Amino acid sequence: MTASNSDPVPTSAPAAVTVLGLGPMGRALAGAFVDAGMRTTVWNRTPGRAVEPARRGATAARTAEEAVGASGLIVVCVRDYDAADAILRREPVAAALRGRTVVNLSADTPARARDTAQWAARHGVRYLDGAIMTPTPTVGTPAAVVLYSGPAELYRESRPVLDALGGTHTHLGEEIGRAAAHDLALLDVFWTAMAGWAHAVALARAEGITARELAPYAQGIAAILPAIFDGTAADADAGVFPGEGNPITSAAASIDHIVRTSEAHGIDTGVLRAAEGQVLRVIGRGHGADGFIRVTREVARG
Ligand code: NDP
Repeated sequence: MTASNSDPVPTSAPAAVTVLGLGPMGRALAGAFVDAGMRTTVWNRTPGRAVEPARRGATAARTAEEAVGASGLIVVCVRDYDAADAILRREPVAAALRGRTVVNLSADTPARARDTAQWAARHGVRYLDGAIMTPTPTVGTPAAVVLYSGPAELYRESRPVLDALGGTHTHLGEEIGRAAAHDLALLDVFWTAMAGWAHAVALARAEGITARELAPYAQGIAAILPAIFDGTAADADAGVFPGEGNPITSAAASIDHIVRTSEAHGIDTGVLRAAEGQVLRVIGRGHGADGFIRVTREVARG
């Protein structure tokens, strides 16, 4: 089945959806739409990736323009906004998008989301930005988490289609950069934690401890973090950093132990040295009795 961009643009909640981009995540999204019974059209820059979605019941368009013409709602999920722009901002695709809704689930920065929203407004494209917070196997299941920002009305209108992705959908507000900003802040937590885990494994191995031996205890460390996030969030917002029972000076001592042991084994300490430097600057400014979260203020000094 093929479609052209002269097809009428559905005005109510569309039963049809197009997915542009068929990497692992794009294929997962397309599969969820198909499984939910939606008329799903797919396209990918490199041919061949549509085979699996087509086998599941999606229609593979020959061109991006044809894929856009098939649905009122277009979900874009490619590597980043350079990739998204390379698809969306080129003619005849840009013209085909006029009057349609684009939900961009590609990851990038808030600034790029704002730039794309401005482009969309100039070209008569209805634009919603989004961020997928969970891996591909969660898509179409209750475990999926997707964040959105942009016009509330457009979000409400698009929900019947987006609900096919399963899980939790949250509209964070009309400011278009908010989904990407949440995404980056949360990935900040994730990647620094992953850097910590990778380093911890290297340190443990140097001490004759396998990663498998360490993992259960690492999970215990991870499990204490949610309460710490909860407990320090209000203080960080209020600009108070109480350190009773756990002053930042104890963090300095603890990090020093890790640095010295790592260096004795010849293990790189770049990440820890950076953290230690932030902590020591807080102490140097006379805030040694405060809690660790005062680092928030230190790093924001630039
Ligand atoms: P990738 O991030 O590797 O993206 C692959 C897709 O981007 C392919 O469709 C690829 O097309 C396309 N692409 C890359 N460059 C271009 C270009 N210049 N022009 C056109 N298309 C291009 O894989 P994923 O599918 O995993 O991720 C897609 C998005 O989803 C990313 O932003 C990612 O951060 C986000 N995400 C992914 C998660 C995951 O678990 N995979 C989890 C949460 C978010 P081609 O095949 O032609 O190269």
